[in-house]
Amino acid sequence: MRKFVIGLIPLLLLSACATRDPVIKGQPSRELSTPYTLKTGGFVPPLQRGVTVQHAELWFNFDFERKVLYGTSELTLDSQRKKRTISVDLDTRFKVEQVWINDQPVPSGNVKNPDGQLLITPQNAVAFPLKLKIQYFGRPRTPVNAPWDGGVMWQQTPQGEPWLATAVQGEGCDLFWPCIDQPAGEPQQLDLHITVPKNLVAASNGSLQKVTQLENAHTFHWHSDAPTNTYGVALNIAPYETLSMDFDSRFGNRYPVTYYYLPEPGSSTDNAETPAADTDENARDLFAELPQMLRFFEHYIGPYPFSKDKVGIVQTPHLGMEHQSINAYGNNYKKDAYGFDWLLQHELAHEWFGNQLTNTSWDHMWLHEGLGTYMQPLYAQYLHGDVAYYAYLNKIRSQLHNRYPIVSGMVKAEEEVYDEDKGPGLDLYYKGAWVMHTLRYLIGDEAFFGAVTELVYGRPDPRPGNFTPRYANTKDFIELVNRHSGSNMNWFFDTYLYTAKLPELVTQRTSTALTLEWDTTAKSQFVMPLQISINGEIQTLSMTRKTTLSVTPDDVVIIDPHSLVLRQQPRFEELKAYKARSGQP
Ligand SMILES: [Zn+2]
Repeated sequence: MRKFVIGLIPLLLLSACATRDPVIKGQPSRELSTPYTLKTGGFVPPLQRGVTVQHAELWFNFDFERKVLYGTSELTLDSQRKKRTISVDLDTRFKVEQVWINDQPVPSGNVKNPDGQLLITPQNAVAFPLKLKIQYFGRPRTPVNAPWDGGVMWQQTPQGEPWLATAVQGEGCDLFWPCIDQPAGEPQQLDLHITVPKNLVAASNGSLQKVTQLENAHTFHWHSDAPTNTYGVALNIAPYETLSMDFDSRFGNRYPVTYYYLPEPGSSTDNAETPAADTDENARDLFAELPQMLRFFEHYIGPYPFSKDKVGIVQTPHLGMEHQSINAYGNNYKKDAYGFDWLLQHELAHEWFGNQLTNTSWDHMWLHEGLGTYMQPLYAQYLHGDVAYYAYLNKIRSQLHNRYPIVSGMVKAEEEVYDEDKGPGLDLYYKGAWVMHTLRYLIGDEAFFGAVTELVYGRPDPRPGNFTPRYANTKDFIELVNRHSGSNMNWFFDTYLYTAKLPELVTQRTSTALTLEWDTTAKSQFVMPLQISINGEIQTLSMTRKTTLSVTPDDVVIIDPHSLVLRQQPRFEELKAYKARSGQP
């Protein structure tokens, strides 16, 4: 078993540590992150409007015993106009030691951080682009329930070694590095230098440039030329082992695929004196799933967006998160009837829907989660056919809430869409996936996948090297669907996205007739065609108005026999009410 005295190492690495020590030992002046820090997205502070992050170079050291992070960040910022005050976001839990603008130190009196919005006022107004360097340290927020609650997790492996992970989707990048905590704050280029004890591996975004050996530690240098989603920047540190391969893409390029995992106790890599016991089988099985998943995404959507970096998966102490090219996986290798790891597949989907395509505001988060979730039934169909596809869709259908519209039409912060009491919450995922299923039925595979591909890449013919990550929103998607389908589908989106309540099919059956009519609260008429099976014979009704069919009491009538149309259905409400009554989850 490998054990190291790790708490001392940052002290040896950082000369200034002795003077920092008393501050850390005492109670930090602010234990809690401010409401400003905990919010991500939404209203953009005036000082940050129009400011872009061209490059973020981040250096990290840690004191694992005392849970202290030491950071230095150099941000290259650009803006059209000179500014008297420069602002980025950083949690007030950190003490800012020194700030430089273009390598010139800024007097400490000119640096303020009253609430998490760091305000730097140099002597004179400054022109852009400029280099803003910030040296800081402190105890970052630790999450109570990651990844839904964000921060830096200081966990331990079963063998008692450090296992650090960051997950900040809900609260934003400012929980551990200075950034512009908005979807538009993506650094266009990223370098990370992460110094850890020699028994630990630091896995992060982009591609590994080099590992520099120091006396008692080593520094991992990661780099990416791709714009990186702000909450996708992640640190993962543990005594990781790796599984690696090169994947040959259908687009003719080849890229590395790596899984950073923890060897299980008693495995051959854990103790060289024990005969090789194959206890890393779980890790190898999971890793073996990746080539097929990549083939699936490249077939339906397009090229893997970060092939210059890697496909990276890392085992984490939390469930999972779509960290760009270093996807977090913490599903404990659970198996289900669909024959693939749903969480691995879901997080991998976000490389396309979230990291390559990023929403312009959190109000459009359904594009990440709805498409990201639809990929699981679609993959079940790709692997096993229709029973798996429809079973998956039926499973998630019972979890719809329909309390808030999926899209509000307003600029939103993250919690205003994910929090069930404030916005659509889980409907982003499950209702979003069902909207995709119904849309695909309505416009057909060619138009549906054509629109999705163009949404993701901004062009219909993506090839490695002819696209970069992009921003898009719901309006862009609707325009693409209208163009690819050759028809105006606004009525569809009015009902499913901008209206909370699902359309209801009002039916009345007498001894001689069946009457059907759509009832919606949406502003435009809902003209969803509907299949109906009478004694096994299927016909499609246009349903542009109230429709009456002749039926006898003995006729076997099945409405929407192929479950194509998302609509209000009492069976799901009854199940939900029963579960609530009986206390079932
Ligand atoms: Zn997701």
